[in-house]
Amino acid sequence: MSKINGKSVIREAAGSGAPASKSRGLSSDFVFDMRALGRQPGTFRDEARTARAPEAAGSGLVLVPADADVTLDLRFEAVSDGVLVTGSAIAPLTGECARCLDPVSSTMEVSFQELYLYLPGPGEGEDDDEERFLDGDLLDLEPAFRDAVVLAMPLSPLCQEDCPGLCPECGARLAEAGPDHGHGEDVDPRWAALRRLEVSDQSKDRQES
Ligand SMILES: [Zn+2]
Ligand SMILES: [Zn+2]
Repeated sequence: MSKINGKSVIREAAGSGAPASKSRGLSSDFVFDMRALGRQPGTFRDEARTARAPEAAGSGLVLVPADADVTLDLRFEAVSDGVLVTGSAIAPLTGECARCLDPVSSTMEVSFQELYLYLPGPGEGEDDDEERFLDGDLLDLEPAFRDAVVLAMPLSPLCQEDCPGLCPECGARLAEAGPDHGHGEDVDPRWAALRRLEVSDQSKDRQES
């Protein structure tokens, strides 16, 4: 069940390109008004805020869930061609253990530094993924946050360092089933004979290769 949910969330996150977040983003908690900062290079403002993630961020087995509270600690600094944002975000993570598929939750902290340029000239910049732009006086941190999250995301989250995973035969969680878990004795004797055959075949293969 949780697996299905997780997948649908991931698909949503993957489908959210820049255009979608652009139209929606300007009302989000990740948007900062730069009017108070002004454009005098060297001026800076510090801002701390708890922002609600409008949609899930991340890819793969873990994500920052939608509606999660993200703690932002930021410095905005006016530079000659835009605003430099330096800071960190602390966000909750949810996902599945890469070995046993149990739910995993933890917290991640990402730090980032991003330059947001003042509006580009006509016809330039809009489709360039490499550059970020202010929208008038508004700075939408969400795309930068999402990129930072994806980069910092653990690829194979584990419920515990030494999670033994699942039994390859019956799918039982080995952490619960215990080290003695096995199928040798429980199997119908006729199949057990077959199993011994398979095992000896495999070991023969291994020795040959
Ligand atoms: Zn696990
Ligand atoms: Zn088993």
